[in-house]
Amino acid sequence: MTYIGAELRRQVITRAGNCCEYCLLSQEDNFFTYHVDHVIPEKHEGETSIDNLALSCPSCNTFKGSDVGAFDRETGGLTPLFNPRTQVWEQHFRLNGAKIEALTPEGRVSVFLLRLNREDQLREREGLIKFNSYPCRALT
Ligand SMILES: [Zn+2]
Repeated sequence: MTYIGAELRRQVITRAGNCCEYCLLSQEDNFFTYHVDHVIPEKHEGETSIDNLALSCPSCNTFKGSDVGAFDRETGGLTPLFNPRTQVWEQHFRLNGAKIEALTPEGRVSVFLLRLNREDQLREREGLIKFNSYPCRALT
């Protein structure tokens, strides 16, 4: 695993607005320090560069692991995960209250693989919505 220097980490955090780029939970609302995720994992020759890094909460990063895709339950096809560097969140997901709903095959496999709608997450998001703290950035 390549060391990610302080300056590069700072750039990733600033670009993301301190917001998990997968589930839209703010670092400020999470007890655990966020991870700098290799969108394309190093295992698959993803580079440690600003164009291949994303800010991720520990939950999303842990479930994502070194995966790059999964089989979509609807189409059956091997489908890449949502890529926050090349894709727009709002084109692949939407919020229905606290629930993240998929709009595309990439969205579906990401919701599934990253476990984006676990009960504990839904409860946490419902609480944060009441304080206008979720999602952690404006959606277009
Ligand atoms: Zn997350």
